[in-house]
Amino acid sequence: MGEGAGVLSILRRHRGPAHPGAHRVTQAKLFGERCPAASLSCFQTPQRVPYAEAVRQQFRTVQVGDTFGPTWETCWFKVELRVPPAWAGLEVHFIWESDGEAMVWRDAQPVQGLTKEGEKTSYILTSSLKETEPHSLTLYVELACNGLFGAGKGSMIAPPDPDKRFTLSKAELAVFNRDVYELLVDLEILLDMAQHLGEENQRSFQALYAANQMVNVCDVTDPATFPAARRLAAGIFSQKNGASQHTIHAMGHCHIDSAWLWPYEETIRKCARSWVTVVRLMERNPELTFVCSQAQQFEWVRCWYPGLYTQIQDYVTKGRFIPVGGTWVEMDGNLPSGESMVRQFLQGQRFFQQQFGRICSEFWLPDTFGYSAQLPQLMRGCGIRRFLTQKLCWNLVNPFPHHTFFWEGIDGSRVLAHFPPGDSYGMHGRVEEMLKTVKNNKDKGRVNHSAVLFGFGDGGGGPTQKMLDRMKRMSDTDGLPRVQFSTPDQLFSALEKESSQLCTWVGELFLELHNGTYTTQAQIKKGNRECERILHDAEVLSALALARGGNFQYPAVELQRLWRLLLLNQFHDVLPGSCIQLVVEDALRYYTEICKAGVQLQGEAVESLCGELLRSNRSNLESAESTLVLNTLPWDRTEVISRIGPTGAEILALVTAPSMGYAIAREPVLPPQLVSVTKREDGSVIMENGVLAACLDTMGRLTSLRLVHSDRESVPDGCPANQFALFDDIPLYWDAWDVMDYHLETRKPVTSLLKPLEITQRGGLRGSASFCLRIGERSTLTQEIILDAMSPYLRFLTQVEWKEAHKFLKVEFPVQVRSTNATYEIQFGHLQRPTHWNTSWDWARFEVWAQKWMDLSEHGFGVALLNDSKYGASAHRNVLSLSLLRAPKSPDATADIAQHQFTYAVMPHEGSFQDAGVIQCAYNLNFPLHVVPAGSAPCSAWSAFSVSSPAVVLETVKQAEDRAEAVVVRLYEAHGSTAVAWLQTSLPVREAMLCDLLERPAEGSCLPLEQRGLRLSFSPFQVLSVLLVLRQ
Ligand SMILES: [Zn+2]
Repeated sequence: MGEGAGVLSILRRHRGPAHPGAHRVTQAKLFGERCPAASLSCFQTPQRVPYAEAVRQQFRTVQVGDTFGPTWETCWFKVELRVPPAWAGLEVHFIWESDGEAMVWRDAQPVQGLTKEGEKTSYILTSSLKETEPHSLTLYVELACNGLFGAGKGSMIAPPDPDKRFTLSKAELAVFNRDVYELLVDLEILLDMAQHLGEENQRSFQALYAANQMVNVCDVTDPATFPAARRLAAGIFSQKNGASQHTIHAMGHCHIDSAWLWPYEETIRKCARSWVTVVRLMERNPELTFVCSQAQQFEWVRCWYPGLYTQIQDYVTKGRFIPVGGTWVEMDGNLPSGESMVRQFLQGQRFFQQQFGRICSEFWLPDTFGYSAQLPQLMRGCGIRRFLTQKLCWNLVNPFPHHTFFWEGIDGSRVLAHFPPGDSYGMHGRVEEMLKTVKNNKDKGRVNHSAVLFGFGDGGGGPTQKMLDRMKRMSDTDGLPRVQFSTPDQLFSALEKESSQLCTWVGELFLELHNGTYTTQAQIKKGNRECERILHDAEVLSALALARGGNFQYPAVELQRLWRLLLLNQFHDVLPGSCIQLVVEDALRYYTEICKAGVQLQGEAVESLCGELLRSNRSNLESAESTLVLNTLPWDRTEVISRIGPTGAEILALVTAPSMGYAIAREPVLPPQLVSVTKREDGSVIMENGVLAACLDTMGRLTSLRLVHSDRESVPDGCPANQFALFDDIPLYWDAWDVMDYHLETRKPVTSLLKPLEITQRGGLRGSASFCLRIGERSTLTQEIILDAMSPYLRFLTQVEWKEAHKFLKVEFPVQVRSTNATYEIQFGHLQRPTHWNTSWDWARFEVWAQKWMDLSEHGFGVALLNDSKYGASAHRNVLSLSLLRAPKSPDATADIAQHQFTYAVMPHEGSFQDAGVIQCAYNLNFPLHVVPAGSAPCSAWSAFSVSSPAVVLETVKQAEDRAEAVVVRLYEAHGSTAVAWLQTSLPVREAMLCDLLERPAEGSCLPLEQRGLRLSFSPFQVLSVLLVLRQ
């Protein structure tokens, strides 16, 4: 609130012409006497340096009114203050106003975050100045040259303005008149009641008349009249509700995006600024509770601000600073793999357990762009039965029908979900918000409790004293919902007690907005998929090396470090690609780091696992004619591999690798049929391998794709597949985030040929042909279409030089299949979405996401589309589309302007996709065999694990978190069936037991070790983790 002008205008609105009394109240000043800083000096740096380093630097004298910058610089101010002795007994504030984000340091400790945008400009030096207090002191103010929302040029989500200047407009001491402040808050609440309760509500008039009376009795020149005015307000606030009034659970909150319109490094400071402010508020407001998510942010503050962290730990112990969420960061809810999502919880919950002695019992994802239908099971497996978000209120088409409900995942797991009905996670404690929370609540007949999360968010900031003071006045005021400061546990416990009438929502919580985020920043998506693979393989190989004994040290610390980097990049503005260029650079650097270190770990594990074979190679380089092939997937594979031969040329070989194991490929294996590639007179190319027969036109389009055995055609007459199409892609506002349905009306097939289809490999073990297209004005696409011997799918190795603006590139596969539903892989399972647009719920899903594959099947036949790094997809009628590249300009003007490389594959199949092995093929495409030159030592094939049922996928093998002598294996039922599977292993297992996703053994869960292995029963899409204790 300014200094009363807002109140005056509201009074005018209610009372007509200005009343002399209104003038009287607004003449009262929030601040009394002021005193400028005795001296002010500054040290500026492009780096974010620690306090100790900053204060040792040379400071130059500066003035209030000076400007600083440019963007992302840091200014350290040294502020000398002398408090006038005449202010004895008064409340003294240090006032700092600037358009950057400031942290006040006192005695080498951070003490207060100050940002004008976050309505925090006061650091309270004393609430009543005593003679014994020091009257002169030195403060340091660390000013980040960015706002709460970064430094967008012209609009919040525009790319940052690199040359922004930041003005210091106030740096002084002032006397704070708390009695005036209290009077103003009283008046605000009364006037808001008058305005928002509505004319039909009698309480609205009572509040207005009380406010009028307050103005009449109040003489601003005489503070002695204030108490009488306040008593009038108290009279209204203390008239109580009936017992059945709705209860609002108010919790302080501060949504801090781990990176978004600012880089990761700035987020570390945002956490400190926001949280130190919360600690100050907690000291003065014993009722304040604050909910705080994202283990990574706690870890940052623990490392960079240990003093503050100790204070936070203390309030955590007191149950007031409340860790929630259970995940490492508030990740994207669609794109991370199943195992990544498990690791979000595993890293998060273990951190909270180690640091605070308890795990979180609520999953907290208020701002994420949709929620996978597998999340309920993962939550339950991680000790969580409760879920909070509000993002679905952003649905562009269909209002979500509930605020409190049971959410049921694809396996039938249920959690209790609550969406704060005020449709926000950053409320300000206003009357209007409390009324909206009840009015908007779609389940208010079923439950009588709701959450209000208050505090500035997204860029940090958090709660303010005024927000608290507003709600304190609404604790039990007739006509308003009852407002109590509460905790997630109190809220959900109350909801659980009333849950008997709640409805159930089954399947994904799809956000009908932001569906461009499945595609934007393709390099980030690719980095995510690649690093998921690299860490998967590094863990499998390391766990096998560990189990085989010897001196192998499982690299647990290094793997945790790399996982945490990957999990960080899954944050809900990074993996979705809705961040600025600086963040993209950080993210790509982290992926490079994970790749490099992950490949190193893989090499060390292979060295330990297969040392004998490799050693003989090293002693005799000539004998490197044989090849060691390692398979990290849980089924036998026969595939064509390529390696570089002694002459530097590529050598192809067909090899068979056992399930999660290795073999030496020495004798060439011959396929039942070689690949043939022929060019016809019209320039088209025929490729055949005995499984598939493809006909490609000169533009690389599939005019025919047949299953040889049944002669079943996949491609409809006259509608070639592998057709590229370009769309105009101009969303209403959220550029990087949204693709709007109207883009579909602008489809242009790409038909501009630069280089017609040419055969590049003539056949044998591999046949291929390549071509080149012009896409749009400035972009080109080169593709190599590859068919391997015995392969059930045709691969499309694609390179794009992409320089577009607001264009959307897709590849389309019209198929000869009729089905009203398409199937999409999600985390540890799949789900179906309609191929028609019957209802608004159907057409609002015109662009959806998938993991590694999608499939359109009718009885007995179908076509699947596999990919190695894409997530955006759609299936309308009989056309499967894969979304390839976008070109948004905000908040990163350079988004996706780069060279891209990706692979997708098409796989027609007989029978169901389950029986045809589509799921396994998508894994094979994503997890190539490891090929290592080896020597001549004899070696028989070795398999560590295999699973008897094709419905069950063994996804993960890793060392157990707390038991160095045990490994954890994670399996899931992938077909959507009830299945029994035998897990066979050649590892020296002494004991086996089921455990949850946090690796806690379940009661009485020991599994008998039988001749055939371990017998595991699965319900559809069930995920099981097994702890295998090894013999030493
Ligand atoms: Zn966010």
